[in-house]
Amino acid sequence: MHVILASPRGFCAGVNMAIDALDAALAAFGTPLYVYHEIVHNRPVVERFRRQGVVFVDSIDEVPAGATVLYSAHGVAPAVREASAQRNLRAIDATCPLVTKVHTEAIRYAKEGYTIILIGHEGHDEVVGTMGEAPRHIVLVQNEQEAEALDLPADVKLAYLTQTTLSVDDAERIIRVLRRRFPQIVSPSKEDICYATQNRQEAVKELVPEADAVVIFGSQNSSNSLRLQELARACGKPAYLIDTVAELPPGAFRGDETLLVTAGASAPEEVVEECVGYLRDRYGAAVESRTVREEHVSFPLPRELRVLAPSRG
Ligand code: SF4
Repeated sequence: MHVILASPRGFCAGVNMAIDALDAALAAFGTPLYVYHEIVHNRPVVERFRRQGVVFVDSIDEVPAGATVLYSAHGVAPAVREASAQRNLRAIDATCPLVTKVHTEAIRYAKEGYTIILIGHEGHDEVVGTMGEAPRHIVLVQNEQEAEALDLPADVKLAYLTQTTLSVDDAERIIRVLRRRFPQIVSPSKEDICYATQNRQEAVKELVPEADAVVIFGSQNSSNSLRLQELARACGKPAYLIDTVAELPPGAFRGDETLLVTAGASAPEEVVEECVGYLRDRYGAAVESRTVREEHVSFPLPRELRVLAPSRG
């Protein structure tokens, strides 16, 4: 067996920051400690923090008055911040700065009187948070059909934004429809699909022709990981999206294949290492690391924690 380890893979700067923030909050304040939504969309990561006593909630009402709550990397709507203030919570904001960028753009366009098309997936934590910034100004579009069906005046003042973890190719197709139907549409100068999402997709696209099958580490609710699985399948390759190597279907491999192994932006490197160890032991796999793009991005801890852990950049 030949294993190609794609790079970049796994944790992005936003996920690293959010996990470091939760570790720092645990060290500083101990438990009980609450997190609004999953800190990142990854089951092993969430389970690790649960074992340490962190409580994940889907509503601020579940957090006792005066307690500490951390907002996940996906961001929150202003209504959540208001609910926290009303309960007198100590709130720590671990929203990824690249998600905050989209919120800021939504606020700006709404103030300038634009109708905003948000390209994204209904119900995703990030989309719920972004739409909450300007609910009366934002229309969600999930695919080309919905873009075709938009019923807006031809000369409407229009802007589009995207969820950070979309398929680059899907988003391009939707944007093409929007530009054709509404040539006046504007967008931010720097696009919203984040560097980590783009780089992980680019690595799969470049390396998948050499592989017989693809193993992607990530959870089923991780948007960027799901996009990697779709991409591999669209290239005609079987693709397994799993949290740990134990979830590989028995008999999935003969042992003479070339496997491409990668991980979504919220999947920890430990699960990749465990898989590589398994493939070496079970199939005598030869492992080759292939770097498609270098990444040197990092984000500082949330402001509320920087005074407690000043050494982090
Ligand atoms: S995937 Fe992108 S937007 Fe999401 S946390 Fe990572 S860097 Fe931030």
